[in-house]
Amino acid sequence: MVNRFLQKLEYKPVLIKHNDVAYVSIDVVQGLYHYTIYSLLGRLVVWLRQTLKLLLLGVALLFIPGEVYFYLIFLVLYIPYGAYVTWRLRIVSSSISGQCPACFGAMTIELQPDERLTLWKYCPACKAPLRISEH
Ligand SMILES: [Zn+2]
Repeated sequence: MVNRFLQKLEYKPVLIKHNDVAYVSIDVVQGLYHYTIYSLLGRLVVWLRQTLKLLLLGVALLFIPGEVYFYLIFLVLYIPYGAYVTWRLRIVSSSISGQCPACFGAMTIELQPDERLTLWKYCPACKAPLRISEH
């Protein structure tokens, strides 16, 4: 379930180009860039969820002698790092969908959360190099 106060699924049109060897675009089609925008409260919830998971792991590690000291050092380092990482991830990329300009087949390219436009990708079907840029 998506809480609209925490995160919002969005998409925007992009240009998908297939370039020849001389880097002159020969085919351009439109596609959609799918991404999620997190609000400040949403990023806070993500960070709290991840920190609570680590705390539960720490409770399990209490029963292993000596292990808890390593865990405490890790937790002390993780809390500010996790806060920084979730603060940075305001926009989380999910995928690019559209038609391949080389083979004209429908395609969906999954993205890493921190990937941003402009992207250089390969068509999953025909392996043609693609340049995906803002409209
Ligand atoms: Zn293709």
